[in-house]
Amino acid sequence: MSKKVCVIGGGVAGLAVAIGLHQQGIDVEVVERDKDWKVYHVGIIVQANFIRALEQLGLGKAAVNAGYPYRGARFMTPAGEVLAELPGESQVDGLPGDLGLTRPALHEVLTGKVKELGIPVKLGVTFESFEDRGDAVDVEFTDGSSGTYDLLIAADGNYSAVRKVLWPDAKPAFTGQGVWRYNVPRPADLEWSDLYIGVQNGYKGKAGYCPLTPEEMYIFVVTEEPGNPRFDPATLADEMSKRLAGYGGMLGEAAKAVIDPALVVYRPLEACIMPDPWYQGRVVLIGDAAHSATPHLGQGAAMAVEDAVVLAEELGEDQPIDAALRAFMDRRFERAKLVGTSSIMLGEWEMHPGTAGDPVEVTERIRRTLAEPV
Ligand SMILES: Cc1cc2nc3c(=O)[nH]c(=O)nc-3n(C[C@H](O)[C@H](O)[C@H](O)COP(=O)(O)OP(=O)(O)OC[C@H]3O[C@@H](n4cnc5c(N)ncnc54)[C@H](O)[C@@H]3O)c2cc1C
Repeated sequence: MSKKVCVIGGGVAGLAVAIGLHQQGIDVEVVERDKDWKVYHVGIIVQANFIRALEQLGLGKAAVNAGYPYRGARFMTPAGEVLAELPGESQVDGLPGDLGLTRPALHEVLTGKVKELGIPVKLGVTFESFEDRGDAVDVEFTDGSSGTYDLLIAADGNYSAVRKVLWPDAKPAFTGQGVWRYNVPRPADLEWSDLYIGVQNGYKGKAGYCPLTPEEMYIFVVTEEPGNPRFDPATLADEMSKRLAGYGGMLGEAAKAVIDPALVVYRPLEACIMPDPWYQGRVVLIGDAAHSATPHLGQGAAMAVEDAVVLAEELGEDQPIDAALRAFMDRRFERAKLVGTSSIMLGEWEMHPGTAGDPVEVTERIRRTLAEPV
């Protein structure tokens, strides 16, 4: 039976699921609130399971070509001595294990495919209201149009408006840390993403960098930010530099380039991990709307694309919608929860170093688990 699906949100999860559904022969439409359909300029770190999931959508190679494959992750002391190496392990023949890319580059890969496939996307539009009638969902849009769908997919991110309607008590909570990011030139010999762990200058977190293109890398510093302060935009470069002071190695050198407050991207870390199920009737949450974590494992985008691939596969099967949604949850819940809770735990360990476990062991174990088929 032919199905018709509406996706709210044209980000990583929404675009990936739209591509997957189109490939299954399902009629799909996307609405995206941002009329300019833009993403901010910093980078994103992804691993082999992200590349594998994108490859299932026919986009693995395009993503790799848009970014910079590197050798893997290294854990360092604040002074810049190597503590441990986790080389990336490929899960797709001919494609790498670890990849850095700018957010606009990833956005370009996904939007390019959506346009090529002719999937309808309404920009500057969101839902006004929706009503699940049991056998279909009626949706009214803010541009005055309306539609009737077999399924409404909410891929509208961490602050999901759809989730607010159906689960009004579920809200992202501040985890205690914030992350500061800045793009700088890539040193010619940088082939790893390095994480400098341990308390530095009294700031409880970590710092590091990741190559994004042959010319560019981005540096980040994650710090405890008691009380979740708001910063004057004019002070962002000074605040970030203060948090990077005293680091050694390549990070110490790279930190000198943090001078323009307008190029600093600061985000308090806020997470919301929904319990099973992520659906009510014919409305389902995917990506950050269902399980936003902190970036400690660099897995948010991978979880979003894996959700998309699995949901499209299950909806492509000859089964009722509720059976497809249940099968989707059975394949996705434990995996996304493991990533979410472990990411938050790594941040907790950074803030409470006296009680911390071994972040290298956790990261390595989760990488192995995520290499298993979804
Ligand atoms: C500081 C930080 C660093 C991160 N670093 C990494 C990393 O290195 N690696 C990694 O894998 N992940 C990282 N993540 C996580 C990653 O960005 C997310 O997991 C991923 O973007 C989730 O995709 P999504 O499509 O669910 O949500 P989003 O990417 O947020 O997309 C949601 C889309 O929905 C649109 N939208 C929102 N509300 C509405 C509405 N009401 N109607 C219509 N459209 C709407 C938005 O405009 C947007 O286009 C990081 C996250 C943060 C906060």
